[in-house]
Amino acid sequence: MSACGLWKRDCEPYCAGTWRADAIRAFTELSLYTNAESCPMCASAIRWAGFREYIYGTSIQTLIEGGQAQIRVASLEIFRQSFDLPNPARLIGEVLTNETDPYLLWQNNPAAPCPAGCSRSVNGSCTPH
Ligand SMILES: [Zn+2]
Repeated sequence: MSACGLWKRDCEPYCAGTWRADAIRAFTELSLYTNAESCPMCASAIRWAGFREYIYGTSIQTLIEGGQAQIRVASLEIFRQSFDLPNPARLIGEVLTNETDPYLLWQNNPAAPCPAGCSRSVNGSCTPH
């Protein structure tokens, strides 16, 4: 039994810290997809984690124009200001907005179209048909 309470064979990768290096290395091979552009806090976390790519649909600007309160700092600015972090990351924005915008904009704008498969009910919400 090791000092950490695990059997020696189970604790070695954890106690030696190799699991952490493996996890950090894994992020450099992953792409993160989100329906909407992340807030500045999440965009920063994406950069700190070291993801290879970050791909989003609806932009913060579109969310603002749709009536949602947002912190007006684009992910692109976070990425520009994180140039000295160890792992480069690719940012791809406004992908498939024809699909993501309707999912996000109907909530604050009664004139916005409902997502596919839904229609406006009398109370103004989008409901599946
Ligand atoms: Zn966030």
